Amino acid sequence: MDGLPHLLDLHGALEPKGPGRSQQTLRTAIDCVGVGVHSGQRSRLTLRPAAAGSGIVFRRSDLGVDIPARFDHVVDTKLCTVLGLPGRRDAVVGTVEHVMAALSGMGISNCIVEVDGPEVPILDGSAAPFVFLIECAGILVQAAPERAIAIRRPIRVSQGDAFVELRPYAAAPALSITMSIAFADAAIGEQSLALRIASDSFRRELAAARTFGRAADVATLQAHGLALGGSLENAVVVDGANVLNPGGLRMAGEFVRHKMLDAVGDLALSGAPLLGRLVAHKSGHALNNRLLRALFADDANWAWVSGGTPASATSGLPLSEGSAGLPSLGSWQERRLPVAAAPV
Ligand SMILES: [Zn+2]
Repeated sequence: MDGLPHLLDLHGALEPKGPGRSQQTLRTAIDCVGVGVHSGQRSRLTLRPAAAGSGIVFRRSDLGVDIPARFDHVVDTKLCTVLGLPGRRDAVVGTVEHVMAALSGMGISNCIVEVDGPEVPILDGSAAPFVFLIECAGILVQAAPERAIAIRRPIRVSQGDAFVELRPYAAAPALSITMSIAFADAAIGEQSLALRIASDSFRRELAAARTFGRAADVATLQAHGLALGGSLENAVVVDGANVLNPGGLRMAGEFVRHKMLDAVGDLALSGAPLLGRLVAHKSGHALNNRLLRALFADDANWAWVSGGTPASATSGLPLSEGSAGLPSLGSWQERRLPVAAAPV
């Protein structure tokens, strides 16, 4: 597929991306405490149930402000994805991508993500602790249909040899990702992975993959007052051919899996499940955000879809790319909404 080396083709779960085609939230609030990997600041994160139609919203409880979890509120992508409010330099929340990945991967449509500081706790560097919190709180199916965003035309952004591309995807109402990375460090090297994203495939294949860095880069960052909360407890650190963490890696391909996790989190800032195929090479937070801005810059690139394919009806669909042109949407019903309702 795509001529990528060492492609590990994981078909993943066969449930539809839209969670039963009804919106979902948490049954109850749940919280945890941890440090921010970049700020080193300790903060409390609380995931709260939210009303149907409200989406994912970050709440700075110490400032009393809400920040929509949307691509057009991304204010920085250098080291992590940072959300903010226009004209409020203090009203930011950093490192949103792992909790966003967990919420999206677990099919949560509506949630208030409350933080009492400027950065989401890094916890163990993966999305697994957030998945654990969601599962402990329980998932509530809401009496409102989920709607999703179907990709209608290929959209590509690139920088150097790095690129990310969204394509229409005919085979199933889902997001599938084909991801490849290439690092000089022999401990990472070249890795590729293809996966259809659904809650059990996300939990099984991606959630536990930790963020990673190179030892030399970590030292430089910390000398500049960054990555202050970073440690071998919350990141994989590599030095050439060596993984410095005493326990080694959690799984084969942990690096490309984490990049895919980041992409799930960043793309969740579209505000609704994406139905399409993402192909990415050496992508990062900046390209992921540019991709969403390019997607929503033209209404012809995408369409709202809603409807109800029972979960069982989509089982057994192969992971394959559709032919050119408009995606076949199964029983998702294509429906254009007024421009004012579009996520721009
Ligand atoms: Zn990450």
